[in-house]
Amino acid sequence: MLAREDLRFHVLTNGQHFESADREVMLALDRSRVVWGVPLYSADPTIHDEIVGKAGAFEKLQSGLAFLGRAGAQIELRTVLMQPNAQGLPRLARYLTTSVPFIQTWAIMQLENIGYARQNWSRLFFDSSTGFETVAQAIDIARSRSIDVQLFNFPLCTVPGPYRHLAPSTISDWKRAYMDDCKNCSLRGDCGGFFEWHPREHGYASLGGV
Ligand code: SF4
Repeated sequence: MLAREDLRFHVLTNGQHFESADREVMLALDRSRVVWGVPLYSADPTIHDEIVGKAGAFEKLQSGLAFLGRAGAQIELRTVLMQPNAQGLPRLARYLTTSVPFIQTWAIMQLENIGYARQNWSRLFFDSSTGFETVAQAIDIARSRSIDVQLFNFPLCTVPGPYRHLAPSTISDWKRAYMDDCKNCSLRGDCGGFFEWHPREHGYASLGGV
């Protein structure tokens, strides 16, 4: 880190394995250049544990987040939106404001059609174009307590106008695609579209050029 001060690091971790013995190493890092991306799917331990496939993961994550918080680490909490956790999003937002208000960003992410998600797509994909209310409520709760919220991988037309500024174009050019519905869309310049491997039957009931 000392040799290349221009570099920034984004570390993805499940937050399960931090120990007090790691504190010295953590404090030696230039914490201004490291962001820790940590997945948290629900404030309900049962739902979180089911999604990650590990009993006790939620509880372990609490101590991992507390460790990062005490060390002054920058935390980007990541919640992938899915059918099992969608309606619990406002509860998760309230949980964040009371239990981990020290996070830098809450990233709510649309599901990527890859790996486990692809195999279970019909059970997991949540159509936020017709069910955005739960996302909006969660955003309002978090932002009212000064938690920064970002929407990743949301097609822009599926996000109501007042929330679009929270949905940057996050899919890189080389893996980005658009659908037939996107022809002549006036938002296309600001919209990240879809991952190239997203099904052509895209699953959004309300998608289309604006
Ligand atoms: S119609 Fe296509 S390009 Fe336009 S906002 Fe929707 S997803 Fe993006």
